[in-house]
Amino acid sequence: MALIVQKYGGTSVGSTERIKNVARRVAKWQKAGHDVIVVVSAMSGETNRLIALAQEIQKNPDPRELDVVASTGEQVTIGLLAMALKALGRKAKSYTGPQVRILTDNAFTKARIKEIDAHRIREDLENGNVVIVAGFQGCDSEGNITTLGRGGSDTSAVALAAALKADECLIFTDVDGIYTTDPRVVSNARKMDKVAFEEILEMASLGSKVLQIRSVEFAGKYKVPTRVLSSLTDPDIPIEEEEESGTLITFEDSKMERVLVSGIAFSRNEAKITLPHVPDVPGIAYKILGSIAEANIEVDMIVQNASKDGMTDFSFTVARSDLDKALKVIEKEVSPYIQEGGVLSDPSIAKISVVGVGMRSHAGVAAKMFKVLAEENINIKMITTSEIRVSIIVDEKYMELAVRALHKAFGLDKETRSMEQSRLMH
Ligand code: ADP
Ligand code: ASP
Ligand code: MG
Repeated sequence: MALIVQKYGGTSVGSTERIKNVARRVAKWQKAGHDVIVVVSAMSGETNRLIALAQEIQKNPDPRELDVVASTGEQVTIGLLAMALKALGRKAKSYTGPQVRILTDNAFTKARIKEIDAHRIREDLENGNVVIVAGFQGCDSEGNITTLGRGGSDTSAVALAAALKADECLIFTDVDGIYTTDPRVVSNARKMDKVAFEEILEMASLGSKVLQIRSVEFAGKYKVPTRVLSSLTDPDIPIEEEEESGTLITFEDSKMERVLVSGIAFSRNEAKITLPHVPDVPGIAYKILGSIAEANIEVDMIVQNASKDGMTDFSFTVARSDLDKALKVIEKEVSPYIQEGGVLSDPSIAKISVVGVGMRSHAGVAAKMFKVLAEENINIKMITTSEIRVSIIVDEKYMELAVRALHKAFGLDKETRSMEQSRLMH
């Protein structure tokens, strides 16, 4: 008998029919003798609908009240799932995040989990209940409702698995595992049976939405055995089959895992700001980026051109949703440095990242990437690298073309990736 946390995302609970299927799947695990904690998202589209409602009232909704509204989607699903389980003759109890006492900080709309009170869940499990917990939410030390950022139910699930020392955390979703890139964009993307923790951490941080980045951080910190698998299979398939399916996140540092490139992540949520012709003197980057940081805006890539006549162009990227705010800050705080042409901004860019732990020991991944894009006539606007990834910025309209070309060029559609990749590199 094991303690299993299962998480079902928006599509997986997108209709009452699907919720009944989730109940059948959960009941199967419980009947087999396992203790099951289920974390659910809101029904698909519901969180967007709630946020849009808030924006109809206030263009930039008050963050505390936005969390009060946005967290309600999950409350509907937990209740419906508990009913569906009871209809199957199982004992079940549903809880919101604050009811469990998932304690977070007070950063509304992007709160971090600090502590989880597990005693009530343990009691319910001992009494034979399936415990159903609303994902995406918690409360701060004063009892205010908080949410964990979009996609946050993944984090609720992995954090609960860590707090309760679960044997496994199963993330059920609308694809059958983690692929080399988003299978909705590259039709011959390949499902991976295993993925190294570092790689999925990087992919998640670079915009691949299959797992929220913080859930991967929790999985790594507490070594939670985590598997991503499909919720759309027959709910009655044998447990042994289900346990072998999907993609397992691995933590071991195996040589076998050291493929050069294991995946491609991309994100449209990017915007570029350029201050042309600013003085190339000490402190200028601090002056510009310091004011941006003070406004709580995260900067991603930064490029400063070579100096000419003591002047330089300074560019950086921010999340697209922060662009207006960032431009206002620049105009207010950095105005003495803004030339006649003003500040330039480009909201139609995308970031593409090639990720792989094997890059550490091989030069040339970046060069190959640039060659592929040159052959497709795609202009690269910015570049950053780390030990295990190369990221570039391109015009958004070329994003899908670039992702497909790179996926092919790095042999990611092939079974024997490492061999194929090393051959391609020579
Ligand atoms: P859920 O509602 O279950 O949390 P999400 O929509 O948040 O599901 O995440 C699953 C989606 O992530 C898939 O439908 C897929 O389009 C997308 N995705 C992006 N990158 C990948 C990848 N590398 N592997 C699998 N899915 C990916
Ligand atoms: N319902 C929330 C969202 O849409 C959380 C989640 O689905 O993980 O972002
Ligand atoms: Mg998700």
